[in-house]
Amino acid sequence: MTELDRKQDRAPVPKDWTYAPAPESRDVVTLRERYGHFIGGEWIEPTETYETIAPRDEETLATVGQATAEDVDRAVAAARGAFSNGWSDLPGSERAKYLFRIARILQERAREFAVLESLNGGKPIKESRDVDLPLAAAHFFYYAGWADKLEYAFPNRQPRPVGVAGQIIPWNFPLLMLSWKIAPALACGNTVVLKPAETTPLTALLFCDVVRQAELPPGVVNIVTGDGRTGAAIVEHPDVDKIAFTGSTEVGKAIQRRLAGTGKKLTLELGGKAANIVFDDSALDQAVEGIVNGIYFNQGHVCCAGSRLFAQESIYEPLVEKLKRRLETLRVGDPLDKNTDVGAINSKMQLDKIVELVEAGKAEGAEIYQPPCNLPEKGYWFAPTVFTNVAQSYRIAQEEIFGPVLSVLTFRTPEEAVEKANNTPYGLSAGVWTEKGSRILWMAQRMRAGVVWANTFNRFDPTSPFGGYKESGFGREGGRHGLEPYLSFDE
Ligand code: NAP
Ligand code: MG
Repeated sequence: MTELDRKQDRAPVPKDWTYAPAPESRDVVTLRERYGHFIGGEWIEPTETYETIAPRDEETLATVGQATAEDVDRAVAAARGAFSNGWSDLPGSERAKYLFRIARILQERAREFAVLESLNGGKPIKESRDVDLPLAAAHFFYYAGWADKLEYAFPNRQPRPVGVAGQIIPWNFPLLMLSWKIAPALACGNTVVLKPAETTPLTALLFCDVVRQAELPPGVVNIVTGDGRTGAAIVEHPDVDKIAFTGSTEVGKAIQRRLAGTGKKLTLELGGKAANIVFDDSALDQAVEGIVNGIYFNQGHVCCAGSRLFAQESIYEPLVEKLKRRLETLRVGDPLDKNTDVGAINSKMQLDKIVELVEAGKAEGAEIYQPPCNLPEKGYWFAPTVFTNVAQSYRIAQEEIFGPVLSVLTFRTPEEAVEKANNTPYGLSAGVWTEKGSRILWMAQRMRAGVVWANTFNRFDPTSPFGGYKESGFGREGGRHGLEPYLSFDE
């Protein structure tokens, strides 16, 4: 019997009601032992390599390249060649056909991609299958639709492609972030050199197969793998016209400093510390689902995660009780099991960061709650965590944890909620839970955040722009707004 059951005089959940294992088959994925860089439509043998693993059990999955500055230079040259030799002059309706083709192939091969994403990244298969893959395909479909309508999107502004885009992405949504980057770039007539994150290169490498299958002209998409040094080589390359970066605020700032005065275009999608605000007139059970989805989805490795819960004082206690009760039903374990809700932490480095911040939370005086769960012995794991008694000044309320850790704070009035929610250097997203439409609008106007969800959280759609205020970055991805960073205008 758990402590909560005892307190509330409830019967414990019978043991034999637990789920039987439902593992997704790995056989749909054929991994090569070794991958090179995908440059000019060919696989180029890497000079340096490293091994990429599965965070669920630290199994080595493949050897991949660590691209040097010379490799990056080759990739940029291939992208420049493809840009000048036809791609940028192709009618938009022709470019659209390639994007449609890529979207269709992603749909056809969705299962293979989903399994590989979960294997290499640690996220539950039900999320890669139901969220990452459908959204990745949707992004290509959506931007395919814009490719021949750029003059209508920007009337009287004569949009032209920018040239070669250097794109650097993080490990939390590997294929989805790739899609957010590549789809608008290609729709606008650019060519790209993309670097996936060091820990999650495999779906980007599988995507090269899709590029070939779609018969995209060689050099339009180039993928180089490696760590931050490869990213820095892309940023510094003189023949790259635009940098699109998604990652940490720290690296984003360094890139911005590096590019100052070079004339290169830049968009930064950085970190977040979102407020999820629950008013006393909201549907509490629905709000609990939104809180859980807001912070435990993808192990909390989500830049727009609802990591700060603000509960109105009058409902604080029932809300926290309901939340704790719900946490007990989350299934933490094998990412490839179809019943898993919370998978593996992406890397040892990320796990260390989470542990450090959680320890800081305890030391500063917050009260920790973790439901009972058996974490596997191998691999990287962290139990879903809730902190109560959190002061706004605590590190767990200020810094991005990027893990399954929620800090609960309280407020009395809407004004106080606004003030506390905006008391952060970040401004990527926010959530508001209330039954009053007028209050939703009142709050949305006052939140300094790029996205404000009402009575829901972590909803994405390619037609809707996404991006930050303040230290969460600048520029928008998605929607018509997402075209603009990939275009130049004769103005
Ligand atoms: P990160 O260290 O900043 O890495 C992001 C990407 O940049 C990776 O590919 C990384 O390579 C590369 N990189 C590292 N150092 C670089 C340098 N000096 N120059 C150029 N590139 C460099 O971030 P992360 O820890 O992987 O990802 C988590 C962060 O991303 C969180 O802060 C999160 O909020 C943010 N994020 C934001 C969004 C958004 O849309 N706003 C989406 C997802 C994630 P390595 O993999 O080798 O480090
Ligand atoms: Mg990093």
